[in-house]
Amino acid sequence: MAMDPDEDDEQVEWVSYSSAGYGSGEEGLWEDVVPTDSPSEEIDWYDENPIEGESIIEWDAPPCPAPLGIAYLARIGCCDFCLHRLGGRRTDSTGAEGGAALRKEAEKRDPELANLESSIECPTCENLLDDVGNVSKIISSACDGIQFSTMQVGVHIPKDLIEEEDRIRSRYGAPGSKPLKAAFVEEVQTSTSEKVEGIEFVRERPDLMVLIDTLTLRVDVDVRPVFLYGRYRKLSREIPQTRWPCRACRGRDGGCESCESTGLQYPDSVQDLIGKPIAEQMDALDTAFHGMGREDIDVRCLGQGRPFVLEVKSPKKRIPQFDSLLKLVESNAKGRVEIDSLRLSDRKEVARIKQTRSEKSYTIRFKPESIEDPEKISEDIFALAGTMIEQQTPKRVSHRRADRNRVRQVVSVDRVDIVGDEMEMTLRCEAGTYIKELVHSDEGRTIPSVTSIIGAPCEVIWLDVEDVHAD
Ligand SMILES: [Zn+2]
Ligand SMILES: [Zn+2]
Repeated sequence: MAMDPDEDDEQVEWVSYSSAGYGSGEEGLWEDVVPTDSPSEEIDWYDENPIEGESIIEWDAPPCPAPLGIAYLARIGCCDFCLHRLGGRRTDSTGAEGGAALRKEAEKRDPELANLESSIECPTCENLLDDVGNVSKIISSACDGIQFSTMQVGVHIPKDLIEEEDRIRSRYGAPGSKPLKAAFVEEVQTSTSEKVEGIEFVRERPDLMVLIDTLTLRVDVDVRPVFLYGRYRKLSREIPQTRWPCRACRGRDGGCESCESTGLQYPDSVQDLIGKPIAEQMDALDTAFHGMGREDIDVRCLGQGRPFVLEVKSPKKRIPQFDSLLKLVESNAKGRVEIDSLRLSDRKEVARIKQTRSEKSYTIRFKPESIEDPEKISEDIFALAGTMIEQQTPKRVSHRRADRNRVRQVVSVDRVDIVGDEMEMTLRCEAGTYIKELVHSDEGRTIPSVTSIIGAPCEVIWLDVEDVHAD
């Protein structure tokens, strides 16, 4: 992770806590999702005619599509849907209707089949097909008012049914028969298509994910997030990048007195100043903010701004109106935050943003205890350009980072000004350089430092990120 070193400890702790759930659980929840296409083997089977009128008693049936195989499935109570699914024969109609036709043919060959108990539960689907209409109704009403074009359907079927179905299918089903899961998903999709217009079923990156539990008939419809890439400039020294919960109540529901019931230590954040109006326009539940590093609360971020990806959670509208979004953010932030380069993004870019280590330019203002020889000092500071500095883990972050030395390059020193008894310098550094420490030396943990060059303690007054040199 390319954490920006100039960040506040507690903020980081919170961020790592709040992002702990990122991406987790997803695989677990959806590992059950089945591919919805299955092998379609075209096999010509020898059409064996059973002996007219012979009743079916205990015999070892051949697999479908042999008539005796179909008769066997009918006898053990397979429903029309499964008869067609496992029968391996072409019929004029598909699904249960096709299965009914196969049953009729089988009954013609063996009238006793017609006398079988019809109330028996289908051993290869436990009459799951009866639920298709109900399930698709739930899905279509859950989709109501949600803008989307693609859907992925996953289904959870109890393991014992899956195993029993697999046993019967592999022993008696025609080669290439569709497994129950895939067949059920297909039925649900067909039925849903009839209720919801213009829906496209996909197997990855859907707008909506539907998970059906066939045991409880619970249907979860998950609106997948929309990701927006942009760059932000932070023009205030009073707002954190991401939401920061109240120190007193740790942001618990309802907050406390000290945070005026907001649950927040700082009422505003870059995340919310950008995310709130966007969430509102897209009718979303919430946002998550993924920045390419971050700056301290009291540090501004200027230039082209810092790249970020905003994760818009559960949006009812998926197509952002970029022009009006920029204006909305602008009026909401009242000059404290600006954004541009807004475009659609994806989850992959979140990882890219998190991993990118980019050089940054900074301007830092500081006050040396004394300035003896201004010209010599300027010259020596300029000479830092191109050199490597050694930084031991700063005290302020030592409780959460391993204590070690790192070597970082000062890429360039672009400006050194002496303004009265204060100084200001602009420099460009390798990713991960601690800039405040480079100036005040952190009690000698950074070598060399501006403090060691000047030979007098330096107090940092403010810091700006002038630019993040990333794409
Ligand atoms: Zn069945
Ligand atoms: Zn509080």
